[in-house]
Amino acid sequence: MTSIPMSSPDIGPAEIEAVTEVLRRGQVSSGAALPLFEAAFADYVGRRFAAAVSSGTSGLHLCMIAAGVGRGDFVITSPSSFVASANCIVYQGAVPVFVDVDPVSGNIDPSLAAQAAHDLVGGGKPAAAWLPRRCETGGGGKLRAILPVHALGRPAEMNTLLKASQRCGAALVEDSCEALGTTCATRPAGCWGDASVFGFYANKPLTTGEGGMVLTDREDWALLFRSLRNQGRDASDGRLQHHRLGFNYRMDNLSAALGLAQLGRIEELLQRRAEVAGWYDGLLSGLDWVERPEQALADARPSWFAYVIRIRPPFKRDRVAGALARRGIPTRVYFPPIHLQRPYRHAFGYRKGDFPNAERIGDTSLALPFSGIMSRNQVESVCQALRQAEDSFRS
Ligand SMILES: *Cc1c(COP(=O)(O)O)cnc(C)c1O
Repeated sequence: MTSIPMSSPDIGPAEIEAVTEVLRRGQVSSGAALPLFEAAFADYVGRRFAAAVSSGTSGLHLCMIAAGVGRGDFVITSPSSFVASANCIVYQGAVPVFVDVDPVSGNIDPSLAAQAAHDLVGGGKPAAAWLPRRCETGGGGKLRAILPVHALGRPAEMNTLLKASQRCGAALVEDSCEALGTTCATRPAGCWGDASVFGFYANKPLTTGEGGMVLTDREDWALLFRSLRNQGRDASDGRLQHHRLGFNYRMDNLSAALGLAQLGRIEELLQRRAEVAGWYDGLLSGLDWVERPEQALADARPSWFAYVIRIRPPFKRDRVAGALARRGIPTRVYFPPIHLQRPYRHAFGYRKGDFPNAERIGDTSLALPFSGIMSRNQVESVCQALRQAEDSFRS
């Protein structure tokens, strides 16, 4: 039995040629591919400025700095996400104020988020009700940002969040790392907030190995991102003058060349993932204990980051995952809730029961092997294994 990987990048001859060319020229760190990738990516999503960075996580961190997030400040975000979307808040010594997600979409509940924003600005008892039990950083700061995540490529409900952020004078930062190609209502994911962040790890629809991109329409933020990623230097400053405390969050030119070549195939990359998801949908339609991903939301186009099912009771997710593992099929939980991860329980006193919808997703979700280069045969093998798992539970 050949093993089926959890995910695989879709790398073609164009990518190999582009990276080889960079190697031939020796422009491995900075070089010509980087500004080309930035310009093409900004153009594809539809924003004025792009700053390529070393990862999605570093991009999110820079957005928190641009939003003025500091010690004891508050940022409203989703507990049902990859941990990076909350870590960037904690890096700044700020408090992640989690708001539970919608049980169907898995994205932050927009009306709860708007209420939380309103109450946090007002202060007093209504504000305290949204805060974690413990704030090692003391709290007492200001609401600086709302940070929704377009989880699993499903669009978050941006209209309400945009209005809430404007009313409260807080920044809106979109974690679009899983949402390249997603549209929310009339606008692409990544075009709503003051800034948005995309990630290019190997399991994302477009990969650069490691890497990320920050998009914004604000020139002041774009300049700040470029400075912060480059040790606090100003653009085109050849001297080693560091105007602010910066980081090495640069993307290298090899990664940029890979990203640019991938971007040239983006519609094909997205289309292939949609096709694989369609195979899963068809093959799993007979299994009543498998809830297939609810992708088709009103006036929105999702993109496929992963194929995540939910296991209905009385079937147990962990037993299903175990049965698949025994047949050599890897799976993941997308996502174990962030508030229950050890650093969050420890620093903020979050507990089980705090965000029931996020926890239900954490208890029932199962990401199946998924990529744009999966064959129909591989998808059939996974679905076959699920069906065999069913037999063993029923007997
Ligand atoms: C992938 C991802 C990121 C960024 O991850 P990096 O590995 O740092 O590129 C951030 N948020 C979400 C929701 C992600 O899925």
